[in-house]
Amino acid sequence: MYKEPMFLQPELKERLWGGTKLKEIFGYSIPSDETGEAWCISGHANGPNVIQNGPLEGRTLREAWDEHRALFANEQGEEFPLLVKILDSKKDLSVQVHPDDTYAREVEDENYGKTECWYVIDCEPGAEIIFGHHAKNKQEFERMVENGEWGNLLRTISVQPGDFFYVPSGTIHAIGAGIQILETQQSSDITYRVYDYDRVGNDGKKRELHLEKSIEVTNIPHEDPAVDRKHTLEAGLKKETLIEESYFSVYHWTLDGTSKELNAATYQLMSVLEGEGTLETGGETYTFQKGDHFIIPATMDSFTLKGQAKLTVSHSNKA
Ligand code: ZN
Repeated sequence: MYKEPMFLQPELKERLWGGTKLKEIFGYSIPSDETGEAWCISGHANGPNVIQNGPLEGRTLREAWDEHRALFANEQGEEFPLLVKILDSKKDLSVQVHPDDTYAREVEDENYGKTECWYVIDCEPGAEIIFGHHAKNKQEFERMVENGEWGNLLRTISVQPGDFFYVPSGTIHAIGAGIQILETQQSSDITYRVYDYDRVGNDGKKRELHLEKSIEVTNIPHEDPAVDRKHTLEAGLKKETLIEESYFSVYHWTLDGTSKELNAATYQLMSVLEGEGTLETGGETYTFQKGDHFIIPATMDSFTLKGQAKLTVSHSNKA
């Protein structure tokens, strides 16, 4: 039986809006000074992670999902359901919206739409995101898009380190410049671009917009989703629930000392945002540090964490 954590090698992605913080903060070797995304826990075909240790060393998470489903509590589904990324926005990202599962299947022939959520790791003072819009109905939304009334349409919110945003499919959103976030999302790469600040790329062209599809999938009027952050305290470990919803649950853990954890009959995704420590299980000790990402397989019954660290932890709710 597989009794060890699966450490994963992040996949770095160049983006026009990216920078160098993924190297500066997490020590990742970035392909250029325009690196926007690290795909940290991914079974997606566009960037599956390679497992770095144990019996499946050298295999991808995508292959592990296909061939060893017991590690993932025998969850149904063609693809690994979640995708954990860290983003560094040196510049503004385009304003965008994602479809839900039904629309993704019917229109894009893809398995999953995209509901996502963001934990703000760090940001520059005054950094902002776009979250939702002010249109009261579809006609008003269409008119404002057609007339380019972006200032009136788009809703801007300032952000602080430690903030958390839940972004269900159909929510208009954009990450502004100067923000590093950890994103937990459905494993999907479908994005409809609504507005790109009229920027031109290196090829002298504007990036493609997807206005018709955007209007079809956007929630109108916008409603802020409920987020209820709550804490539980255990010896050595503070657990904060960031979101529990139909696709995933996401937590923020602050480890300070020693904590014995039971693995609650599922697999868990862990990302170390600060500090370092050890994970002990089955007589073995694994060290982890800031920037590491690993999966606790469903076949591991219990483990002990020791150290001083901050982690985001998530699991799928589809099992
Ligand atoms: Zn998005």
